Amino acid sequence: MAGGGVGGMVAALLLARDGHDVRIYERLPRLGGKLAEHRRDGFTFSIGPSLLTLPGLFLDLGVPLDLLELDELCRYRFADGSTLSTYRDPERTAEAVDRLAPGEGRGWRAFHRWAERCLDASTRTFFAGPLSGPVVEPPFRPAGQRLGESASGEPGRPLPRPRPGDLLAVAPGRTLHGLACRFFRDARLRQYVGRYATYAGSNPYRAPAALGCVPAIEHGDGGWYVRGGLPRLADALAASLDKAGVEVRLETEITEVLAGAERVVGVRTALGEVVRADIVIVNADAAALYGRLLPDRARLRRIARLGLSSSAFLMLAAVEGRTEGLPHHSVVFSADCRREFGDIFERRRPPEDPTVYIGCPAVADDTQAPAGAESWSMLVNVPAGDPGRWPRPPEAYAELVLERLASRGHDLSGRLRFLDLLTPADLRDRYGAWGGAIYGGAYGGPFAPFRRPGNRGPRRGLYLVGGSVHPGGGLPLVAMGGRIVAALVRRDFPRSAGHPGKASR
Ligand SMILES: Cc1cc2nc3c(=O)[nH]c(=O)nc-3n(C[C@H](O)[C@H](O)[C@H](O)COP(=O)(O)OP(=O)(O)OC[C@H]3O[C@@H](n4cnc5c(N)ncnc54)[C@H](O)[C@@H]3O)c2cc1C
Repeated sequence: MAGGGVGGMVAALLLARDGHDVRIYERLPRLGGKLAEHRRDGFTFSIGPSLLTLPGLFLDLGVPLDLLELDELCRYRFADGSTLSTYRDPERTAEAVDRLAPGEGRGWRAFHRWAERCLDASTRTFFAGPLSGPVVEPPFRPAGQRLGESASGEPGRPLPRPRPGDLLAVAPGRTLHGLACRFFRDARLRQYVGRYATYAGSNPYRAPAALGCVPAIEHGDGGWYVRGGLPRLADALAASLDKAGVEVRLETEITEVLAGAERVVGVRTALGEVVRADIVIVNADAAALYGRLLPDRARLRRIARLGLSSSAFLMLAAVEGRTEGLPHHSVVFSADCRREFGDIFERRRPPEDPTVYIGCPAVADDTQAPAGAESWSMLVNVPAGDPGRWPRPPEAYAELVLERLASRGHDLSGRLRFLDLLTPADLRDRYGAWGGAIYGGAYGGPFAPFRRPGNRGPRRGLYLVGGSVHPGGGLPLVAMGGRIVAALVRRDFPRSAGHPGKASR
């Protein structure tokens, strides 16, 4: 396994339980990849995921998690000063929508029903198999159904059967913004729906409507926090790997995938060590695989045609005092979302008027900041690429963001103990992510999900897993990818053929 991100860890765990001899090579000194945190002076900041959805995907594998379910999922503040809170309970959310824009609650209920149908169809099809073939994985179970049920990945559980209406249910050919216009007249609610494109690093004016199924996940199965911070999920996965006998080599980079014309034969590490293996799973970016590890210009060109997904500018603020009424998750919207996404995806510069996500876990978890203080992880969506080309240096851009926030009700002046910044260059250098893009290629068109690299590589025994490949990024999707890859290996290397994949030097 080249890379120890969450998708790779899930695949490794399932394969070790199948009896394979699994070894993970990770270039960083710890497992978890983008599921990471930054600590300083008693403050802990998430520098990756802050909201966990579908935790059943991990609990189902027997990975223990100390979970906290959020009642208020997120509070959105619009440029006109109005706010919308969304809740676990869909009906309560519809009422909140009606309070924001009288009469639109009906549209929200219809949107939610559409999202449920879209999710249902995707669960039977897109999320359950590789793009290249039929479904291979039983559908995931919601968190509410997890207790007392058997571990996922067990061969023998029934596979879902795609239904005739499944393709139509995802509104093919429609963009997410088009979908928002179908259900809402109010521009603020269209902006709220468009926000879900950023969960895949994409532009709502180009991304497929199918991304609109995310609220069905949040309202159907909940939004969750892991006590101690989301990276505890990586720790729990690492402990499960250890128990399953997976060997982990940290601070060891894979520099080459070794392959003949037909099949892979192993990998080479940065130290020059050659490791023989019949199965190589790459959890690094697909662009890194086809660009460097096993060069393949045609495949690399196909990835480049997708265009880069967005990156993040992270502002990690140690804040004095507690903020009255601040929720765990808030989003402070820009005044003009068309201009904002134009800046990110067309003009390729940080938006002049950004939307800012604020995560403040200290609201629910006092391990995240010293007493009487708060750790704010603020995230601005920015283009992937070199911040050296930004019109302003990152420090000056941070000032602009703080000014915008102050004018929209979040004034931190006089309260900042320190502010640490992470740019796309940091994400690129830490994780080897293409241009610092969080999700590899963008969803730059209604059919883009079908154009992402698949989970089977171009040689027998080579597989890809993680946010840059099918079914996509985000913790639940990379976990689904891990399950799909394990199921493919099960098919391609049936147990009767022995247990390939034993690494040897
Ligand atoms: C700022 C930010 C916020 C996010 N917010 C959320 C959120 O709220 N909810 C959510 O669900 N998701 C969120 N995500 C997305 C989520 O973190 C990722 O999609 C997911 O963690 C990616 O998992 P992965 O399997 O692709 O592995 P990655 O996390 O990409 O890890 C890949 C690993 O491979 C290693 N590697 C790369 N190349 C090599 C090599 N050649 N040899 C050895 N090792 C190598 C890297 O060091 C890395 O550790 C966020 C991400 C970011 C960055």
